[in-house]
Amino acid sequence: MGDQANSQFPFSQKTNTPRRVLIVGGVAGGASCATRLRRLDESVEIVMFDRGPYVSFANCGLPYYVGNVIADESNLLVASREMFRDRFNIEVHTETEVTAVDRNTCTIAVRDVHTGDSRSERYDALVLSPGAAPIRPQSPGVELPGVFAVRSIPDSRRIRSWIADRDAKTAVVVGGGFIGLEMVENLIHRELSVAILEKLPQVMPPLDPEMAIPLMDHLAAKGVQLHLGDGLLSIEARADGGLIVIAESGARLSADLVILAIGVRPETALARNAGLQIGPRGGIVVDPQMRTSDPHIWAAGDVIEVQDVLTGQETVLPLAGPANRQGRVAAESIAGRATHFRGVQATAVVGVLGLTVASTGASEKGLRRAGVTSFEKVYLHPGHHAAYYPGAHAIHLKVLFSVPDGRILGAQAVGLEGVEKRIDVIATAIQFHGTVHDLAEVELCYAPQFGAAKDPVNLAGMLAENVLNGDMPVADWSKLSRADALLLDVREAEEFAGGHIPNAINLPLSQLRARYLELPKDRDLWLCCAVGQRGYYATRFLTQRGYRCWNLSGGYTTYRALKGARMAI
Ligand code: FAD
Repeated sequence: MGDQANSQFPFSQKTNTPRRVLIVGGVAGGASCATRLRRLDESVEIVMFDRGPYVSFANCGLPYYVGNVIADESNLLVASREMFRDRFNIEVHTETEVTAVDRNTCTIAVRDVHTGDSRSERYDALVLSPGAAPIRPQSPGVELPGVFAVRSIPDSRRIRSWIADRDAKTAVVVGGGFIGLEMVENLIHRELSVAILEKLPQVMPPLDPEMAIPLMDHLAAKGVQLHLGDGLLSIEARADGGLIVIAESGARLSADLVILAIGVRPETALARNAGLQIGPRGGIVVDPQMRTSDPHIWAAGDVIEVQDVLTGQETVLPLAGPANRQGRVAAESIAGRATHFRGVQATAVVGVLGLTVASTGASEKGLRRAGVTSFEKVYLHPGHHAAYYPGAHAIHLKVLFSVPDGRILGAQAVGLEGVEKRIDVIATAIQFHGTVHDLAEVELCYAPQFGAAKDPVNLAGMLAENVLNGDMPVADWSKLSRADALLLDVREAEEFAGGHIPNAINLPLSQLRARYLELPKDRDLWLCCAVGQRGYYATRFLTQRGYRCWNLSGGYTTYRALKGARMAI
């Protein structure tokens, strides 16, 4: 990451005219670029255009405005036109759409959305940060009144009014990604009964399926109806003014309103029409300084393609943190600094009705898609703080790492407390190309109400080290049904009686030292317990007595999640 100042504006300066930087889109990427550029260069003229009525508003707060958690709309406005003008000398034109880019004359065409009047604006540098638009499927009925997508403050306002005016009681959210789930939480907060229709067999697609199971259980326990593995076919109007969502399976879901949250698509029309290079994932291609295929045009935010630092593949990642950082990098580049964007690792978190779900880096399915095979994984389910202090809640944690070097590839976590803290620590370690050995060693805060002397992050590192150095070989869950190994469950008899893996035999750890000679030495032993800890102890004990042992990482808790996710076990 370079920060070397270079006072040269990176393109030729026209005589007698101020250098003009025009920015399309005034929210995360655009506004960050504008203000950073002003801090770097007082002499440049900066003009920002947005077709909406606001700039610099909190898109991420919109679901909570719908839910009335944020009751005052003005709290969503991070900065006003006046603040941009007075504090930063940045000219802002709202409700002004940029309709075309002419690269030959270095001009853009802009149109007043109210009057329709058009004019042309000259640029020396142009920054495109128009974001990504919600995908509206082609299905019949998606244009009916009462069907909404959530992108802007006016969108949220319309949903609020619809709920209030019609005293709405039921909603269908189409799409179980993070915006869909945030809408579920907020509609429930408004006391609506909510159903999710999701094409995949799981919610939160970035998670591996088994990690989504605790989330789906939680949603079901909170009364959310889950229609998974079922897509949207059409929407019909009911005679009483309500709607019926018809699923591909034929299911008919009645609703007073429908939220479409099936993903977003980069808004590349301007860039495509201007002949800028578009990548295979549908975003504008930029270099690490956010420069497009035209040296006078930069792009940032949801509209661009970026490199995934774990898989090395190009991706689109519509998240606010990267958009802000990319806007800043574009400004640095325009100001002549050699700052580079490092790429993304998809660190994300969502809160759903009290549960927190967070992830960073690659998922197992993402690694497999990318053709990565030399990796291992550990599952663990530690308390979010010391077990002896009241109120500890389990964090379900999965960590993926490369073999044999132990480089951390990704992590996913679900739980009631302390989830995002652990993922943020692991995300930081990934930034520094950290290994599981670093996780084992990292020194974190500890007092009983906050963590444990061996924090879940340390434990994850230690478990992974045990796998790498052969202290705890892990069995492959996906081979469970094919295994000719003996499945040995080392939980106590009552726990075993409460549910166990088919064909497992029970020999509690508490009796193992006295009875281990009952076990056959000529068979592989696959060990299972509740969360993997006693299985590990048993693995160590038996291995040192000449048995061939593998632990089932995460134990019966992980087994149930895998089973729930209908994975091949
Ligand atoms: P945007 O912020 O979308 O801004 C683009 C602006 O460009 C828009 O105002 C648009 O009107 C304007 N525009 C587009 N085309 C033109 C044109 N031709 N002329 C003029 N103006 C134009 N991310 C997170 O990391 N965490 C979250 O919790 C989170 N929650 C979210 C919740 C919701 C409901 C939504 C919609 C998004 C959420 N995001 C979240 C994603 C995050 O908001 C985006 O990744 C981020 O805002 C992208 O910044 P951007 O500058 O690329 O685009």
